[in-house]
Amino acid sequence: MTTPTVAPTDHSSAGQDDALPVLRTVADLRAQVAAWRAEGRTVALVPTMGALHDGHLALVRRARELADRVVASVFVNPTQFAPHEDFDRYPRDEAGDSAKLLSAGCDALYAPTARGMYPEGFATAISVGGPSEGLCGTFRPQMFGGVALVVTKLFLQALPDVAVFGEKDYQQLMVIRRFTRDLDIPVRVEGLPTVREADGLALSSRNAYLGADERARAPELNRALTAAAAALAGGADPDATLTRVRGRIAEAGFGDIDYVELRDAETLAPVTRVERPARLLAAAWLGKARLIDNVPVLPA
Ligand code: AMP
Repeated sequence: MTTPTVAPTDHSSAGQDDALPVLRTVADLRAQVAAWRAEGRTVALVPTMGALHDGHLALVRRARELADRVVASVFVNPTQFAPHEDFDRYPRDEAGDSAKLLSAGCDALYAPTARGMYPEGFATAISVGGPSEGLCGTFRPQMFGGVALVVTKLFLQALPDVAVFGEKDYQQLMVIRRFTRDLDIPVRVEGLPTVREADGLALSSRNAYLGADERARAPELNRALTAAAAALAGGADPDATLTRVRGRIAEAGFGDIDYVELRDAETLAPVTRVERPARLLAAAWLGKARLIDNVPVLPA
């Protein structure tokens, strides 16, 4: 005996006839969330920039475990890109994203317009210190302010119980945890381990920028980090280990290495000895793609 209005969506039977509801405005999003709330449902949010892959879908599946209803957002956020970066050529595929989200058990897609998110006269910024400093914060100084702004807006627009993010963007996850706590935003922030290809390459929408030869070289970033994490856990000298990682990545054909650094896993403060859980993080260019990756490092 089920009442259609409160019966959970049967995602296993989702066929071609079922389309994912697409919400374009804050009003539409709030109406959908209010309807779920009226049924007593909990709500999870999965923010993305689209061009979805299995890493994003793992977030959606985790969100389904954590809440009754899942809304994913797809928004290529202009405020987190510097003028010379890849905003214009960032891959976009709303039809493909929508189909993937439906198959992963998502309940609605929130795809706002840039004008809707940043109306004429928009004049507000958010600045986060602490975990934003160094690493990607040095090489992409615009990014975390833009991420903080858009994620804060998404949180306040949807007011979900929980939001799920990937550890693939580890510094971003720590920044989001920081400002969510600092601003008393009542959303639980959940992190999910990086989803990888069989050869270790972290799934990323930007992997589409890799040519065949670059794609073959790309897993060396993760291999070098994984080997270094094992060495550090065994007591190896951090300086010498990080130098070895840089050498190995350069030898594999990477161009500029933005950083290879050991940081505290929680605060992201620089670490010279592994006495608490740490994180080894790197960013390096391979052709037109800037690849980032990170691995945990546990004390010996
Ligand atoms: P993006 O669309 O790249 O902005 O990413 C949206 C969300 O997906 C962020 O929380 C990312 O950390 C997460 N994500 C991206 N790639 C992966 C991956 N390979 N594994 C797990 N999460 C990921």
